[in-house]
Amino acid sequence: MAVKGFQGTSLLDYPGHIAALIFFGGCNLTCPYCHNPALVLNPEQLPDYPLLALIDELQRRRSFIDGVVISGGEPTLDPRLPSLLRQVKEMGLQIKLDTNGLNAEALTELVWEGLVDLVALDLKTAPTRYGELHTGPVDTAGLIQNLALLMEGRVECEFRTTCVPGLVGEAEIHVLGELIHGAPRWMLQQYVPRHALAETARQQEPYSKEDLENLAEVARTYVDEVAIRGL
Ligand code: SF4
Repeated sequence: MAVKGFQGTSLLDYPGHIAALIFFGGCNLTCPYCHNPALVLNPEQLPDYPLLALIDELQRRRSFIDGVVISGGEPTLDPRLPSLLRQVKEMGLQIKLDTNGLNAEALTELVWEGLVDLVALDLKTAPTRYGELHTGPVDTAGLIQNLALLMEGRVECEFRTTCVPGLVGEAEIHVLGELIHGAPRWMLQQYVPRHALAETARQQEPYSKEDLENLAEVARTYVDEVAIRGL
C-alpha cells in the first residue's frame, strides 16, 4: 500500500472549498464496476508518492486549500494513514475519507482520535451479496460495526450507493435502508460502465432516470436527505 496520486479537487460536501485529493493503492475488494482498476489490480505498477514529499506539497499549497480528500483503493488498509492524517490535521486542514467501510478497527481509531471530519462510506449492495464484489471471501462484520459507529453521530458522514443494475435494486435499497435508518444523507449514484474493472460490468446498461428516481423514493422511506448523483 502506498500513496499513488495527488491532485486538486473541490472538497465535496464543503461547496466552494478546495481540497487536495490523495489516492491510496490497493483494495480488499475487486468490485466489477470499480472505476479505479489500476489502483486496485496493479498498484505496484503505479509510481509511489513519498509521504514526506506529500506533506511538503500540502504545506506549499496550504494557503489555497481548505482540506484533503483521502481516497483509493481502500486507504484504511495503509498502516501509515493515521500518521499522515495527524500531520494533515496539524496544518489545520479538514479531512474527508472515502472508504468501503470493511475495516472497522482502522475507522474506529480514526474517528475516536478525531482525525476525520467527514466519512463517505460506500454501501455497495445488501451485505449478504458482498461476496459478488470480490474474488475471495468477504467478511462484512466490520461493515456492520462501522455503520453502528457512524450512526452514533460522532463524525459527519455520507452514505453512497452506486446503483448497478443486477447488484442494487429495490430489495437491496430496503436492506441497506434498514441498516442506516435515520442517517443524515444517502447519495444514490448513477452507474457509468465506461472504465469499469470487469468486461461484464462494461457491458451493463445503467438504470434510466426514472428507475433511479424510483430507487430514491424507496431510499427516502429510511433517510430524509436522498439525492441522485450523475444523472
Ligand atoms: S469500487 Fe472501491 S471498494 Fe470496490 S474495488 Fe474499487 S476502490 Fe475497492
